[in-house]
Amino acid sequence: MTDPILRLALPSPLRRLFDYRAPAGCDPTLLEPGVRLRVPFGRRELVGVLVERVAHSEVAEERLRSASALLDRQPVLPPALLELCRWTASYYQHSLGDTFSWALPNLLRQGEPAERGEERIWQAMPHARLDDPRLARAPRQRQALATLAQHPHGINQNLLDQFQLARDSLKLLHDKGLVEVIRRRPSVPEHHGAWLLQPELALNAEQRSAFEAVRAGFGRFHPCLLAGVTGSGKTEVYLQLIRETLEAGKQALVLIPEINLGPQTLERFARRFNARIALLHSGLTDRERLEAWQAAGEGHAQIVIGTRSALFTPLKTPGLIIVDEEHDASYKQQEGLRYHARDLAVMRARLERVPLLLGSATPSLESLHNAEQGRYALLRLTQRAGGARAPRFERLDVRSRPLDSGISPPLQRLIGDTLAAGQQVLVFLNRRGFAPTLLCHDCGWQALCPRCDARLTLHQRHQQLRCHHCDHRQGLPAACPQCRHVDLRPVGVGTERSEERLRLLFPDFPVLRVDRDSTARKGAMERLFATVQRGEPCILIGTQMLAKGHHFPRVTLVAILDADGGLFSADFRASERMAQLIVQVAGRAGRAEAPGQVVIQTHLADHPLLVQLTEQGYFAFAEQALSERRAAGLPPFSHLALLRADAYQAEQAEAFLDQAASLAEQRLGDGDAAVQVLGPVPAPMERRAGRHRAQLLLQAPARAALHRLLGPWLLDLENLPGSRQVRWSLDVDPIDLF
Ligand code: ADP
Ligand code: ZN
Ligand code: ZN
Repeated sequence: MTDPILRLALPSPLRRLFDYRAPAGCDPTLLEPGVRLRVPFGRRELVGVLVERVAHSEVAEERLRSASALLDRQPVLPPALLELCRWTASYYQHSLGDTFSWALPNLLRQGEPAERGEERIWQAMPHARLDDPRLARAPRQRQALATLAQHPHGINQNLLDQFQLARDSLKLLHDKGLVEVIRRRPSVPEHHGAWLLQPELALNAEQRSAFEAVRAGFGRFHPCLLAGVTGSGKTEVYLQLIRETLEAGKQALVLIPEINLGPQTLERFARRFNARIALLHSGLTDRERLEAWQAAGEGHAQIVIGTRSALFTPLKTPGLIIVDEEHDASYKQQEGLRYHARDLAVMRARLERVPLLLGSATPSLESLHNAEQGRYALLRLTQRAGGARAPRFERLDVRSRPLDSGISPPLQRLIGDTLAAGQQVLVFLNRRGFAPTLLCHDCGWQALCPRCDARLTLHQRHQQLRCHHCDHRQGLPAACPQCRHVDLRPVGVGTERSEERLRLLFPDFPVLRVDRDSTARKGAMERLFATVQRGEPCILIGTQMLAKGHHFPRVTLVAILDADGGLFSADFRASERMAQLIVQVAGRAGRAEAPGQVVIQTHLADHPLLVQLTEQGYFAFAEQALSERRAAGLPPFSHLALLRADAYQAEQAEAFLDQAASLAEQRLGDGDAAVQVLGPVPAPMERRAGRHRAQLLLQAPARAALHRLLGPWLLDLENLPGSRQVRWSLDVDPIDLF
């Protein structure tokens, strides 16, 4: 009998696997799927992941190469994650090897050992004495020795800072033979005693029934949607379910949308639990990421908190998965492997047989629909916990009122009154910069991006015009480049402009701007929030960065300068996003004693969706929006896949998509209505960063019909002669039709 062949996934966009023989001296029958091997590939070497062993290869005997090295004794991905990656690759029509690359930490992709090496532990020598005469005039060394002496098992190298042990003092102690460094393999520390560092709050009735409903599903797949208004105590429910998980000897995985929520959330968890927490986000170094991943996979970290890609973190003993702010668009990756971490969390919970908790004050229409269909248990929290009252909404009709830098006179008065009462104001405008357009008053010239079909945004403070799509930057022209007149005017309003106006109107109060420009510097955000937390009256003005997770107890007035964009847009998800933003921003207000007021400036004060939202709340809005989607046959009542293409020449992208459309129609056969092929059409912004963009949309009432088409169709596309001249990608379940 011949030795089995190893079938590997390699980091390559090609959607196929590659066959190799086992490395010399290695018994291939002992290799489990999920181990990494180093293999020759062309003239390079790659690190691949073993997917299966097969008896025969299509590759001719003499061309079959041997892997050069086996990198793991144990699979780097446990079976459930391996299965999740396979499912992901097939669902999103992505190469499996590339899917592993997204899932694995960088260092593992590069072939670093997956198991942790030895740890360095600092220990006091048994004979060391604090009254050693050599320490008489070395107080820092004496202090360090005293600290070490209190820890008979020694202190890990990684934790020296936490114990305020200076490396130079330790080194001097080491030279004197008073301390030693030992190396040992890390072991999972046994947990003794209590998991809680601080007492839990007594859950109210709604929280308790949500808690019980999730707990009843421990040990099996049990998806739940926790729909709780902002401040209703969702986080407290998470915390108590995590405590249950820890007590059962299991781990919890918590996904959060953004890194800037990380420290806050982490702090809340760290204060509550006597447990090790691994935090995974894009700001980690490769080494830190690997260590967090290992701590989770080996079971050292009982709680894993992270952004989107943390979904792929291995867990030794999975017990519970939580997706906080499940509606947030940042769970969808918009490049390469275009997965949705919330959707994959559902699949992961199924594979791991654990309960899944999706939480939000403004659940996505998809999740609400799943709950209505009985696929998720719907758990509602309708009251704010801790006594705060829900904010009051008001639509402020600004038709034919003068708007100065986006602010109407009645709003100006309200802001003044709020500040005078010693309270804080939050002003929301989802557009950064000073003005979205610079216009010549004489000839109508507009500042356009040379590389995109887009206007340049004026950034007054930097005296620059910037493109928010490709980051092109240029200085301000002194005169109109077309007619040479000097009357160039900013048109429209961004946060910088409203900030300037508010400073002028309310010179006695601090005006703090929060957007990507003002918080670019490290620590800027923290300093800003520290000012707000002090509680003195002030105005916060900012973009959606303000909407996320923060808690501003002294804000009692929230002003939304412009809600109309979300009601006009061609994107069918725009109104859902607008509603979520408004409710999330509103949720920042009045979280303490004083009740909050939310004022929405609009030219569409009678728009049914806006009326529903402000008078009856998010769920009434969502009902209305869902029935509109049903009538229009839009998601979640149909399923989409978007084929995007771009090229330096417009014709190339469109020609490719034309061919793609006819190939899809051929595969579908005549008169088959299971999948509709729409387009190709130019992308809403046709030119971006110098490339011409077009797209083709596939829409199907049933997911199965769409996915039956996608696999073979993509193979057709890969073989099209024109497919190499254009850059193209498929987006399954796109959330932006751009
Ligand atoms: P959410 O996550 O839904 O926004 P939080 O869990 O942050 O809500 O709770 C909002 C506030 O209410 C917090 O200050 C929290 O400490 C408090 N809180 C939550 N649950 C309770 C409870 N059962 N009793 C008293 N206060 C609570
Ligand atoms: Zn001009
Ligand atoms: Zn541009």
